[in-house]
Amino acid sequence: MADVDFAAIRQQFPILDQEIHGHPLVYLDSAATSQKPQCVIDAESEFYRTINAGVHRGAHELAARSTMAFEEARAKVARLVGANSEEGEEEIVVTAGATAGLNLLATAFGNASLGRGGKAAQRFALKPGDEIVVSKAEHHSVLLPFQELAYRTGATLKWFDLTEDGRIRSDTANQVITERTKVVAITHVGNTTGAITDIAPIVRRAHEVGAVFILDACQSVPHLKVDFHAMDVDFAAWSAHKMYGPTGVGFLYGKRGLLEALPPANFGGSMVELAWMDKPAEYMAPPARFEAGTQPVAQVVAAGVAADWMRAIGMENIEAHEKAIAGELLKLGDIDGVRILGPRENVDRIGTVAFDVQGVHPHDVGQFIDSLGIAIRVGHHCAQPVHRHFGLYASNRASTGLYNSVEDAQALVEAVSKVRPFFK
Ligand code: PLP
Repeated sequence: MADVDFAAIRQQFPILDQEIHGHPLVYLDSAATSQKPQCVIDAESEFYRTINAGVHRGAHELAARSTMAFEEARAKVARLVGANSEEGEEEIVVTAGATAGLNLLATAFGNASLGRGGKAAQRFALKPGDEIVVSKAEHHSVLLPFQELAYRTGATLKWFDLTEDGRIRSDTANQVITERTKVVAITHVGNTTGAITDIAPIVRRAHEVGAVFILDACQSVPHLKVDFHAMDVDFAAWSAHKMYGPTGVGFLYGKRGLLEALPPANFGGSMVELAWMDKPAEYMAPPARFEAGTQPVAQVVAAGVAADWMRAIGMENIEAHEKAIAGELLKLGDIDGVRILGPRENVDRIGTVAFDVQGVHPHDVGQFIDSLGIAIRVGHHCAQPVHRHFGLYASNRASTGLYNSVEDAQALVEAVSKVRPFFK
């Protein structure tokens, strides 16, 4: 690990320089959304101050500059996730976020099931008897679009079970994924458990049976070095706002050949070559085919700045820094009456640590912690099945960003140790 001054990097986040309820703010809710460094905040306002214009049309200079900035940002994001292979076999589609990207896929597969997209799209078509596979650890943004797709097409929804500590049972890939499986959608990192999924056996098995593999990369891209090309995933979706970028945008990685075969999901301006009154339109090649409407250009440009900024710090350095904090957070499990919902060992996991405080409702825990200036998440974190797995409806969740320190984690552990005595 290179010698990176993370304390100095923290100074780049103006929001963190404040007191909450008379205490210095400790922000441990980055799994919900990350804070933004000054360079990202500046990139967005600079875009509006100097080159704001719609992209991909217009003969004027500002339109050309904004188009260039937009496409450069796409390339920066591609470099962050290994979507810049020499062969150029992959593509980055701009979306409104991970949820939008996952819905885009589910809707497009539904359209293929209706015969749209012709013969090439038939590989995405589902019919009764076919199977869609997810896991019990999925965020609702994976579970629900693909569950709906199953309802719409008559396909059967199946899922990977979890180990006692909440890991996806990759070892059961050969049983869960069958010759009837057409789609597999799995999270890279559990948003409640923080567990990193061993996806290799799942990807291998999915491809063995000809299924499409979709990765929910929301909780991995901000924290780990990912290379979707090397991982051989077919599609991956994530959000910019969790990787130090703006809200309202996200990205969908796709293998080029698959995107070329996939019918569109959203229709409108900027995605069509030819439109007529009396026959179907001819759509543009990807990524434009999946980017109907006016693009969130300023946000994409700022997300590109975030991607470059993360790469400059080094994803390995970010990973190592947050791992040390995760080790400290895991000491929550040593507190009497506190249970960690996820792996206890600091191995193959990130610094997202959900926990239950016996006898104290998460909302009470969250409020008590907040009174000390520490921000954590409480509730089901849009992942009810994984909570059910642990016999709970809701939990508390601390989650790291690169601006956190070991001292932040220690402050939380100390605060949580006071919760049960306080509510007794
Ligand atoms: N998947 C995971 C694992 C997440 O943590 C989230 C966000 O909470 C999402 C999907 C959905 O992301 P967004 O709400 O930004 O679309």
